[in-house]
This record gives sequence, C-alpha cells and structure tokens, in this order.
Amino acid sequence: MRLILLGPPGAGKGTQGHRLHEAYGIPEISTGDILRAAVRHETPLGLEAKSFMDRGALVPDEVIIGIARERLGEEDTEAGFILDGFPRTVAQAEALDHMLLESQRPLNHVISVEVPENELLRRLARRREIEGRDDDTDEAIRHRLEVYERQTAPLIDYYRKTGLLRPVSGVGTVDDIAQRIKTVL
Ligand code: AMP
Repeated sequence: MRLILLGPPGAGKGTQGHRLHEAYGIPEISTGDILRAAVRHETPLGLEAKSFMDRGALVPDEVIIGIARERLGEEDTEAGFILDGFPRTVAQAEALDHMLLESQRPLNHVISVEVPENELLRRLARRREIEGRDDDTDEAIRHRLEVYERQTAPLIDYYRKTGLLRPVSGVGTVDDIAQRIKTVL
C-alpha cells in the first residue's frame, strides 16, 4: 500500500502515520523528521534546512525531492510506504509522480486530513508546550499555516483530479480518526 497523508500542520498526520505504520508494517516517511534529525546531527543538509524550518518556510523543492528520492529508493519501501509531509508543493507532487512512474509503484490513496483552522491553532499551541519544537513559535506557526494555504492546499485539487483523494475529518480522538482512515482504505 502506497499512501500520502496530506493536511495542514497540526492535523495529526504524524500520529496517524505512526498508527498506519503499526497496522500495516510499512515505513512511515516524514520529511520533517528526516530534516530534524539532520539538524540535530549538524549535517550539511541540516545546516542548510534549519533557517527555513525555524521560520516556518518550506525547504527548497530540489533539496526535498532529493531526500524523498533517496528514501524511496530504500528496500523497506518495496511493500509500500506512508508519506507524511511530502509532497508539499505541486513541483514536489510532479517529481513524486515521476519517481513512482519510473519504479512502477503507483499511489493507492491520498488521505486528506481536514481540521478547521481554530482547532489547528489550539493544537499547535499545545504541541509547543509539550514538544518545544523550534518552529512552534506564534510567528512560525502563523507562517506555516499561510504557507500551507498557498503552496500545499492546491495539492487537494491536484489529487482530486487523479481520483486518489480521500477526504477524512481530522476532528475527534486519535482512535476516531484512525478508524475513519481504516474505513477509507
Ligand atoms: P513537518 O514536521 O512536516 O511539519 O515539517 C517541519 C518543517 O520541515 C516544515 O515547516 C518545513 O520547513 C520543512 N519541511 C518538511 N517537509 C517539507 C517538504 N515536503 N517541503 C518543504 N519543506 C518541508
């Protein structure tokens, strides 16, 4: 099974991606996690990405596409994968289409996790208290939501046109949402 989890920051993609990983035994690939690990280890990638991430801006497409290509080339993705936080722009989605076409691994579903903005703000503020992520400042949160609307939300239409879009309400308990996703799959 090859899935994308699409949705704004704070929609719970990471939590649901983790659930899906446990349920189906396929890797959960989060470009945000890959970047945060690179920042932590102060690799050249991390040093390049950090300033974008701290501002809540997107890391340049070429960099992200390179990361995705490398990760999707690993053996554990043969049985499938769950993408969380990638693609985030139309250019990334096109590059992904190209990669998957080349390797003859078409996507099965794009799960669009829908959460109203006031609820997202509430969750992101709470996550800041718990996790203390560098990009959970008020300013960065606001910017990430704007970037989502401008650059990532157009992917909803992009995938609707391919017939792969599966909208799911992201409001409720983690179990409720996991159940809705299971029903869709
Ligand atoms: P996330 O954990 O998915 O919210 O990602 C945290 C940050 O990493 C984002 O705000 C971006 O700065 C960067 N990032 C993660 N994935 C991508 C992507 N697909 N394209 C561009 N930037 C990304």
